[in-house]
Amino acid sequence: MTSSLLYNPSAAISPRSSFFPAKARGTPGKSRVSGKEGNWASKKAAAAAVRASVAEAPKELGSRAAEKKLRILVAGGGIGGLVFALAAKRKGFDVVVFERDLSAIRGEGQYRGPIQIQSNALAALEAIDMGVAEEVLNTGCITGDRINGLVDGISGNWYVKFDTFTPAAERGLPVTRVISRMTLQQILAAAVGPEIIMNESNVMDFVDDGEKVTVKLENGESYEGDLLVGADGIWSKVRKNLFGQTEPIYSGYTCYTGIADFVPADIETVGYRVFLGHKQYFVSSDVGGGKMQWYAFYNEAPGGVDDENGKKARLLKLFKGWCDNVMDLLLATDEEAILRRDIYDRSPILSWGKGRVTLLGDSVHAMQPNLGQGGCMAIEDGYQLALELDKATRQSIESGSPVDIVSSLRRQELITLSSEALVPPSFMRMHENFVLQSFMDLLEWLRSWHQLTKHIWELGWGRCLILYSILQFLTQFRIPHPGRVGGRFFIDIGMPLMLSWVLGGNGSKLEGRMPQCRLSDKASDQLREWFSDDDALERALDADWFLFPIGDSTVASETIFLNRDDNNPCLIGSVPHPDFPGVSIAIPSAQVSKMHARISCKDGAFYLTDLRSEYGTWISDNEGRRYRVSPNLPTRFRPTDVIEFGADKKVVFRVKAMKYPPKTTKKDGNELLQAV
Ligand SMILES: Cc1cc2nc3c(=O)[nH]c(=O)nc-3n(C[C@H](O)[C@H](O)[C@H](O)COP(=O)(O)OP(=O)(O)OC[C@H]3O[C@@H](n4cnc5c(N)ncnc54)[C@H](O)[C@@H]3O)c2cc1C
Repeated sequence: MTSSLLYNPSAAISPRSSFFPAKARGTPGKSRVSGKEGNWASKKAAAAAVRASVAEAPKELGSRAAEKKLRILVAGGGIGGLVFALAAKRKGFDVVVFERDLSAIRGEGQYRGPIQIQSNALAALEAIDMGVAEEVLNTGCITGDRINGLVDGISGNWYVKFDTFTPAAERGLPVTRVISRMTLQQILAAAVGPEIIMNESNVMDFVDDGEKVTVKLENGESYEGDLLVGADGIWSKVRKNLFGQTEPIYSGYTCYTGIADFVPADIETVGYRVFLGHKQYFVSSDVGGGKMQWYAFYNEAPGGVDDENGKKARLLKLFKGWCDNVMDLLLATDEEAILRRDIYDRSPILSWGKGRVTLLGDSVHAMQPNLGQGGCMAIEDGYQLALELDKATRQSIESGSPVDIVSSLRRQELITLSSEALVPPSFMRMHENFVLQSFMDLLEWLRSWHQLTKHIWELGWGRCLILYSILQFLTQFRIPHPGRVGGRFFIDIGMPLMLSWVLGGNGSKLEGRMPQCRLSDKASDQLREWFSDDDALERALDADWFLFPIGDSTVASETIFLNRDDNNPCLIGSVPHPDFPGVSIAIPSAQVSKMHARISCKDGAFYLTDLRSEYGTWISDNEGRRYRVSPNLPTRFRPTDVIEFGADKKVVFRVKAMKYPPKTTKKDGNELLQAV
């Protein structure tokens, strides 16, 4: 039932399942939906009857039920619109969502891929509707229980690891999940209900006459309500009609996205990883079910178009030389699963609405996808707005005066901006820019007093002073490379603090939600150690290790499987050694000695020992340093290192750790492992 909502929306959701209809344009004097008007009139009459009948009843129950039927119109049934509609419905409001095309999910359908919903948003979802939250939590793939963070794109070395688990666990919040957008929308749409969502309803305009708002659809129909919420995304028509035409800002980056059947070697230990480079970066995330989602960002002018079937080839070229985690994922992705879009965002604005109209989500604070918080912020917006409207309704019941819609909308904007209740989107936007741009010329941005004061102002007053001090401090330093002091300070101390703050949202104060720990949300006992110790992280790799022959002139043709058994080492030599207590690999080549080198494993780490070979054994590490292995001294090597036996580049291998062995074929009775 739920799936049919999205895959065949018209079957489940009547495009004309109207609500609060006003006079339809093009049919003067005759309402095409007069039956529904009658419906509304009878609703009003019923409400009046209820009011009358409960006149003597205790105020709390009776009058609230009758009075709080504000009629709320929502433009846009994306994450923000649906979550708000759900929250409003749960608070007892009458709500209708106008969605241009429910099946499209911003026009990209199933290829839009998964979305990361972080602890702050999951908690807000729990406060709105525990059943829906449970469904999302159970369906999503948990990434917050592992290491997430930033690495160098070429070497794959960690710059900073984000602990998204502890902030959640300490506050009793659910741990971050990744979930398919389609599934998320299906869950939300089913909970909101088909009678509330009007599909194929493109909002073109609205009129706010001070008493009510009338929404006009492309098909000529119009609908009235007490207020309008513009949740119609980054290209919002509601925003345009409120504040005039302002173009979204091009981020400078075009973004390719893809999803692949691929399980990285470190799937148990790493969830979400950003690979940084110069004017390009790459993001990968486990999305469960043996699939990985990735984003590849490249700095160039907007509007670029690829050759037919040329996306993958272009990406392989752009990211050539990047670490295996990037290249393997690209190689494993089908051309058809790759999408390209230019990334835009919007400068946050202080005022989110006027009169009886307000905005939420991307329509007011679209941000770049780097920290995966745009949708989370839209969820928090939805929660907060419903809460404020509910408060205003309660006050009106207590005071006996009409609901002060206009003030409650403005209060929601202020609260969200000043972060008294939730994380301010303007801060999030700045934060996510901060994280990546600090590695890619953030300082220019930070040094701009215009930008700085603008953002400080937009943050509202809640945490302004603290942030101002941090930014003041940071502007004293140049951060050309994360190794420098200022950068390190920010990376090691500032960023985890900020992340903890953001992820925490305002979990403890969310109305209707008890702080709780989910028994299912557990992390490995070793998680703490993995944060501080890269070596422990590598040893925890539950994968097979291989040596893949590389290079045009290599004489080695077989992939070598490295045994993790401490008692089963591997001997490399020019001739076989049948008596060797392990695996003997013979590679006849001019510079390979009879007994050249031994490879052994201890506690999950691999070591190479040169057996006094004539021409030596060489390692090139992931930062491009090439050195000769000291004779008889076990030397540690790592995935992506390159190993040469001899110095003539005839026997060269690349070290790879893989979750699943490559396909095998038989050749000359031996198992030949093929490179993927
Ligand atoms: C590549 C990428 C990855 C991202 N990853 C994440 C992530 O991991 N986590 C995260 O939290 N955020 C992520 N985001 C951001 C997130 O997608 C957005 O912030 C989020 O979708 C905003 O929700 P929204 O409801 O405000 O807008 P949208 O999701 O854009 O929804 C707007 C809806 O309004 C409808 N609509 C538009 N105009 C009209 C109209 N005139 N009439 C009727 N309906 C209309 C649209 O069809 C759409 O359904 C990512 C963004 C991108 C681009």
